[in-house]
Amino acid sequence: MPLSGTQIAKLLPNKKGCRECGFPTCFAFAMKLASGGTTLDKCPYLTPEAKAQLEEGLAPLMKLVTVGTGVNKLEIGDEEVVYRHEKTYKHPTGIAILISDKEEEAKVEEKVRKVMELQFTWIGLTLKADLVALQFESGDRSRFLALVKKVIALADLPLMLICEDTDLLFEAYGICADRRPLLYPITEKNIDAVIPKIKERPTPIVVRADGVAQLVPLTAKLKEEKIEEVVLDPGSKNIFDAIRDQTFIRRAAIKQEFRALGYPTVVFPCFLAEGGIKEAVVASAFIIKFAGIIVLSDFDRFSLFPLLVERLNIYTDPRIPMAVEAKVYEVGTPDEYSPVLVTSNWALTYFLVSTQIANSKVSAWLAVTESEGLGPLTAWAAGKFNGDVIAKLFKQTEIANMVKHKKLVIPGKCARIKGETEEALGFEWEAVVGPNEAGGIPAWLPGFAKQVKEGAAKA
Ligand code: SF4
Repeated sequence: MPLSGTQIAKLLPNKKGCRECGFPTCFAFAMKLASGGTTLDKCPYLTPEAKAQLEEGLAPLMKLVTVGTGVNKLEIGDEEVVYRHEKTYKHPTGIAILISDKEEEAKVEEKVRKVMELQFTWIGLTLKADLVALQFESGDRSRFLALVKKVIALADLPLMLICEDTDLLFEAYGICADRRPLLYPITEKNIDAVIPKIKERPTPIVVRADGVAQLVPLTAKLKEEKIEEVVLDPGSKNIFDAIRDQTFIRRAAIKQEFRALGYPTVVFPCFLAEGGIKEAVVASAFIIKFAGIIVLSDFDRFSLFPLLVERLNIYTDPRIPMAVEAKVYEVGTPDEYSPVLVTSNWALTYFLVSTQIANSKVSAWLAVTESEGLGPLTAWAAGKFNGDVIAKLFKQTEIANMVKHKKLVIPGKCARIKGETEEALGFEWEAVVGPNEAGGIPAWLPGFAKQVKEGAAKA
């Protein structure tokens, strides 16, 4: 862990009552520094030694690296834990599609379109791939440069440039420097030539070596030159080596606080597997096993979507259930004759139920109870979805005044709360048992909505 408040306080000048940092004591300033709530430069009395020590001690265990600019930029790294049950992972693995300069123009365009257009709405979020990796493979320098020009004209996406010819790599970088591309590879052979160029015009780089240990002198050299937007490639030759290397790097960076490996990583499932489903499976392993970026040879909606959902799950705070606000939602344009459905506030439940109501083409009120982010059946078993909870929501909202009928629909799997719900609502409402699964709503709801409307009109 970075320095604690007490450790920081020992390095501060301890001037009593100076307050120039905006805090009443050095100790208060130290505590705020430890929590990231202020910055070191607020204290003008630090000795150069203490400042250097504090800068080192407060630096994140893993660097944040930004590829690209603007709304589409990709941020990776800055992770604080090895295992996701310890604390949330912060920056989801970037998913890249590889485009070789050997590929035909139509294929290039198709791949760029995939990154831009294959987007999925999932529990209210938009899931998509992140960047394109352009590879010099043809041996024809002009072809690679033309590819870079073509792709930047097609889309404002983060770029990774892959080119073993360092001069050509930097020539290509010159074409798209304003996009802050990720340059690959920086190696033992070209590092001395590359350092002045990166210092002159900074951009993130991938350092590649034949093994984890061989990365260390390279990152140390870059650090001396104050180049720290670095991504690591330990040059793993197969899947098993790659899992070992990724695990070693993450543990060294976080557990051992070994700053020379405190950088995000890139993994190439496109080179480790044979494409298709095998490549997708390998990619899924490295979303779990610590990759900052994974590069795929290609994808379609069927291989990309599971990876995106897996990534969402891995990078979601495991300590906080995904929940939506407890309230009455409008699905479509409900009116006073529209059905009222009740469910719990697990985000997945909410989005599944509201989507299926929308699919039924019936506008409805969806009353979502406070159930601590649990699905209806789990919430019922935990005593968090029952008649009292539903009655509480009805009292807190205007739902009773919003409709001219007194029928509410409870989830089929929670049919046993029918009686207690009606009792909790003073027997003013009839609790109707709906379908067991959200998927049954489109077939069931139109008929029920008709009954409700006819019944309310007669009353
Ligand atoms: S400005 Fe520095 S010396 Fe003064 S109270 Fe703050 S931390 Fe202490």
